[in-house]
Amino acid sequence: MSSKSFTPLIDPFERRVRDLRISVTDRCNFRCTYCMPEAGLKWLDRKDILSFEEIARLARIFVENFDFDGIRLTGGEPTVRADLPVLIERLSGLVVPSTNQRVDLAMTTNGSALRLIAKDLKQAGLRRLNISIDSLDAQIFESMTRRNHLDKVLDGIDAALEAGFEPVKINIVMIRGVNDHEIVDFAKFGRTKGVQPRFIEFMPLDADGAWNMNKVVPADEIVDRINEVFPLEAVVHGPEPAQRFVYKDGAGEIGVIPSVTKPFCGDCDRVRLTAEGKFMTCLFAIDDFDLRNILRSGGTDQEIMEQIRAAVGTKWAGHNIGNVNFIRPSRSMSQIGG
Ligand code: SAM
Ligand code: SF4
Repeated sequence: MSSKSFTPLIDPFERRVRDLRISVTDRCNFRCTYCMPEAGLKWLDRKDILSFEEIARLARIFVENFDFDGIRLTGGEPTVRADLPVLIERLSGLVVPSTNQRVDLAMTTNGSALRLIAKDLKQAGLRRLNISIDSLDAQIFESMTRRNHLDKVLDGIDAALEAGFEPVKINIVMIRGVNDHEIVDFAKFGRTKGVQPRFIEFMPLDADGAWNMNKVVPADEIVDRINEVFPLEAVVHGPEPAQRFVYKDGAGEIGVIPSVTKPFCGDCDRVRLTAEGKFMTCLFAIDDFDLRNILRSGGTDQEIMEQIRAAVGTKWAGHNIGNVNFIRPSRSMSQIGG
């Protein structure tokens, strides 16, 4: 046990908050229909984006003072940020006080740059990778991402495996009538490649505002369709949002993220930091809390901690997707950091 003292962050619903998503950029080289508009978004000015030093300072406060044990880098597309391994090296050395273990450092990427940097990321201390790939059919892939990069992403998955990432998870946003006929194809792909598919329900965070309930493919349906071909068994697990299932024949596992049909808000232990240093207690939060301002006006660690505590004190019980009182956030997924 470490001798360092820390104070756990507990929200008003008695949930322990301990997992931080950091968006390192709002920019992206893809234009996925469920996330960004075709023309892109108005990018943040470079001076408005947190520097590596600023990100590292905040991450240290979360880990050392509040005992956070998980950090995931995301975006936008994190790999478009120059010198990313430098940031990873700084974050991967953080030690969680209660366990004396290094923080579990993960990243979500569209995979297009992994052939170039997977080895460097691994060497810098990145532990886990999720790679987004929404279709195994080049035309459908292009229609969903507005980029003709399926081969690059497939090669990126190979590069991640070759670099020694274990497990490699693949994120698939399921959209009714677009890619839901590929559910079993993805299961087969996962079984042969040795990667774990994570099927994500489509959430109302697309910049185009085209989301509706009819486009959501319920997680239960995904599990049933795979189970008919490759029998599955549920895994009992902790507060992670993915419901996990292993194949009864031992050929790997899948996960489904039922954010819409079975929200996991009751177990939510997450908070988020946007690329410009806004702290958010939920993907769907309406309020955000400025940490950059405190950083850049010479604020102390104590002042930053107070702002974080005040923000966590506003964390709500959960989102209301599908209900009449649901308020759509003004930011898209890429602007928050998915
Ligand atoms: N650019 C990286 C990528 O695509 O993996 C990281 C950022 S992206 C916003 C993070 C994850 O959010 C991706 O797996 C993406 O598929 C998912 N995502 C984006 N918009 C979504 C939406 N409207 N509903 C559900 N998942 C979404
Ligand atoms: Fe870019 Fe990821 Fe959003 Fe696609 S989901 S547009 S890859 S940020």
